[in-house]
Formats: sequence, structure tokens, C-alpha cells
Amino acid sequence: MDEELELRWMRDGACRNYPAAAFFPSDGVGVDAARKICADCHVKAECLEYALEARIDHGVWGGCSERERRRILKRRRQEAAAYAGA
Ligand code: SF4
Repeated sequence: MDEELELRWMRDGACRNYPAAAFFPSDGVGVDAARKICADCHVKAECLEYALEARIDHGVWGGCSERERRRILKRRRQEAAAYAGA
């Protein structure tokens, strides 16, 4: 799939109506505020997968903070390892 098509979901993100800085918060209050915007976003799943695949380690993407994305990636690695060892 070409890159333009792959990133088309970005145009539909609820965040397009907010400053980018709102999604790169410096504290938990800011993370919660960004999460609230993401909660109603129609491209939340695509956004989260993009951030996970690209290993983006800053900001709120798909309603998840950096820490939450690290946890998801860790869980996926563990599940893949368990599956490979089964
Ligand atoms: S999930 Fe959040 S960061 Fe991702 S496109 Fe939607 S509003 Fe933007």
C-alpha cells in the first residue's frame, strides 16, 4: 500500500481541530485531556497501530500515552514469544 493511502486516516483524526501541542503533554492532566479527545475519534485504532508500528515514543496517539504503548508492545512481544514456544 502506498504511503499516502496508509496515512489517509490522519485527515479524519479528531485532533485536526486542536493544536498539536495538546497531544504532547508534559503531565498527567494533559495526557487525560488528550485522551478525552481521542476517545471519540473515528480513527483511533489506525492511529494507535501507526504509533506502535513506528515505535513513536512521544505524545498521545490512539488514546494511549507513551507508557501505555510500551506496555502494549511488551505484551505483544510476550504473546508472540509464548505462541512461538507453544
Ligand atoms: S486517536 Fe487521538 S491522536 Fe489519533 S488521530 Fe484520533 S484524536 Fe488524533
